[in-house]
Amino acid sequence: SIKNNCEKEYTFYTDSMRHNMLKEKGMENRMTAALGNREFEMYLQPKYLFSDDKIIGAEALVRWNCPGIGIIPPSDFIPLFEKNGFVKQIDTYMFEEACKLLEKWKNESVDFLHLTISVNFSRLHLNNLFLSKELSEIAERYHIDPKLIEIELTENTIFDNENQMVTIMNDLKESGFQISIDDFGRAYSSLNTLKNLPADILKLDKEFFEGTSATNLRGKKIIMSILKMARDLDLVTVAEGVETLEQVDFLKEMGCDIAQGFYYARPMQVADFEAFITNKLQLV
Ligand code: C2E
Ligand code: MG
Ligand code: MG
Ligand code: MG
Repeated sequence: SIKNNCEKEYTFYTDSMRHNMLKEKGMENRMTAALGNREFEMYLQPKYLFSDDKIIGAEALVRWNCPGIGIIPPSDFIPLFEKNGFVKQIDTYMFEEACKLLEKWKNESVDFLHLTISVNFSRLHLNNLFLSKELSEIAERYHIDPKLIEIELTENTIFDNENQMVTIMNDLKESGFQISIDDFGRAYSSLNTLKNLPADILKLDKEFFEGTSATNLRGKKIIMSILKMARDLDLVTVAEGVETLEQVDFLKEMGCDIAQGFYYARPMQVADFEAFITNKLQLV
């Protein structure tokens, strides 16, 4: 029928648009306009604090809501944006979105008062000696206590100029931001990283939970050792990628502080996160 043909054609058109869009050139042509058009959207994934039995905050995760294409996940565009440098603008945009939201929460309801938001920052920022000053200025503009914001740096991005990076991290800490090492354990430099970096929080890579039951058992043993070491170093621990009750029980027993994962909730739009907190649906 005609209707069927149209639908087919529409689908075909959408697929080819999507195909072209997802090619590097298509993305590069559109990324700057997309930022201006507010096509990048902040999703929030709750973080659960074992000791207080409550949600204490969320990680901000970017999505590209591209007209005619749909929601594009960060894995499809962050690697390209790391190559061409655009990720710096995305990160700063997400940071400002987080500040705006924290200010709104501050004025809104006691339910939201102490929630923190963590923002992912690419290593490309770690050669900018003004980073802490720039972020402080944004936080001030929204009257936000920097303590409510956590900067997530990915461990495999630890790079050549370590001294400068330590300087920048110390500046961030002095300005009051919290610093976490994301995906800890995925790269090879982990332990030396811990020796030298002034971090507050350690996020265990979710890959320790993945794999067969045999590798899974080994993963658990590694998690146990990391948690013990983190405790000795006074680092707060966050397990990400938590999907099952069994993992929750294990982490609790091993003294992990905070958990994040599909078991509690997937990353969601801000309005849904607010409903989630307000309705106390977090009491799983
Ligand atoms: P990440 O910072 O390690 O974020 C955690 C990722 O794990 C998120 O993927 C999240 O959706 C996913 N996740 C959470 N819980 C579970 C679970 O229980 N099971 C599984 N299988 N996955 C879970 P997402 O949102 O696709 O982001 C992927 C990566 O993209 C992030 O990893 C981060 O490295 C990067 N990214 C996201 N947003 C930004 C951003 O604004 N700036 C920068 N520079 N990177 C970002
Ligand atoms: Mg992260
Ligand atoms: Mg990361
Ligand atoms: Mg991670």
